[in-house]
Amino acid sequence: MFEILRPKVYVDSICNIDLNKLIKTKKIKGIIVDLDNTLIAWGEKEVSQKNIDWVNEAKKLGLKICIVSNTNSKRVAEFAKIFDVPYHSKYFKPFSVAFNNGLKILDTKKSETVVIGDQLFTDIWGGNRLKLLTILVTPIVKKDSIGTFLHRNLEKIIISFWLKTDKIKKEVGNWPK
Ligand SMILES: [Mg+2]
Repeated sequence: MFEILRPKVYVDSICNIDLNKLIKTKKIKGIIVDLDNTLIAWGEKEVSQKNIDWVNEAKKLGLKICIVSNTNSKRVAEFAKIFDVPYHSKYFKPFSVAFNNGLKILDTKKSETVVIGDQLFTDIWGGNRLKLLTILVTPIVKKDSIGTFLHRNLEKIIISFWLKTDKIKKEVGNWPK
């Protein structure tokens, strides 16, 4: 059920993604990452240092990284500047054009690219459709925009069904092991 929405991996936070092992074991070269509730808390202006460190670590290791977000462009631009990474916010996820623009910015192949986000109906759906490696993270905070809030209840039902039926498991600690 809802296979197109099912992430390949489910972790608590981006910081649980071991970048070294992601490169070595999954041959990943590029990261398309969501902004709100993945890199920063929704509605907040502060960025946690550990997330900045994670992005810097990715860059240091030679990974290309690009924010693809459905949030208004001004907000995305502001945070892209703080993280010092390129961004795309013109087209909406889950439409393929948004992810294809991300891939163009990264200049990586689909097989070398991972999508990381906190929403099944945008990040994971779009990433799966293009056959990218998809990683779901727990939203940083429970607050959301009204539009997202409506999806959340359905998401919770689907995720708890998958967990109960062993369709997905939440990784304990870092991933890849
Ligand atoms: Mg999000």
